[in-house]
Amino acid sequence: MGTRNQLISYQYEMAEILSLATSIVRGLDPEFLMSGSLPRRLLESMELFYRVYDESCRMYLAYIKEKLGREVSCQRGCSWCCYQMPSGLYSFEYIYIYEGLTRANPKTLYLARLLDRSEHFSLIMQKGENGKNLERYVSKNLPCAFLNPDDNTCDLYHFRPLLCRSYFSLGRPRYCHPGRFNPESKDIIHIEPSGKVRQALMDFDSSLPFRLSPIMSFGILEFGINIMKCKPIRWTDTS
Ligand code: SF4
Ligand code: SF4
Repeated sequence: MGTRNQLISYQYEMAEILSLATSIVRGLDPEFLMSGSLPRRLLESMELFYRVYDESCRMYLAYIKEKLGREVSCQRGCSWCCYQMPSGLYSFEYIYIYEGLTRANPKTLYLARLLDRSEHFSLIMQKGENGKNLERYVSKNLPCAFLNPDDNTCDLYHFRPLLCRSYFSLGRPRYCHPGRFNPESKDIIHIEPSGKVRQALMDFDSSLPFRLSPIMSFGILEFGINIMKCKPIRWTDTS
């Protein structure tokens, strides 16, 4: 299969996986979902979706390298893009991120950082400069709560949201810092899923009985505290 057809095939595969995840959720009692128990098949679907998405990105980037002779600058330990407050997350992504968070050690460290980032952002929102909140937050130069300061890697790399998975640069990494970001730059690549996949993402999201903040620190805290009561998710083999 040629690269183009393989890329299209990935999109169909992702939409199918998401459709399966949606049907799993729709077949459940909302009370069950809110009780902190979830079917293991849902976790497997999310894992598979992200794996296929990552594979499709790798293939797309290899295609760019072959056709344009340009290679991404992204590599382990490069983290200018992580000095931000990730926002625009789907609610279902918090299930996966929270799973990563509860497997991580020590969890309290991340919770303290998430609270710290949320407080900074809340203070900015209270000052009420509409439309400028993200810019003002970025000017504080705070790293994402999951960025490891020892080696500049993402401690939740396997569980990171689509927003982080889709962002690449062909240029100088220091310009990926959101405070230096140039929207006119042709070096930044944001690999958007197809319309079919985006629709499947929205269907999956709207099948859940909760809606969480699209701003990462808030969304995780809402899910972890209000829904999970700070306990790990109980993955069940039934349903
Ligand atoms: S997007 Fe930019 S800062 Fe982030 S890993 Fe890639 S090159 Fe580095
Ligand atoms: S979740 Fe990970 S990849 Fe995304 S901004 Fe945070 S540290 Fe960076």
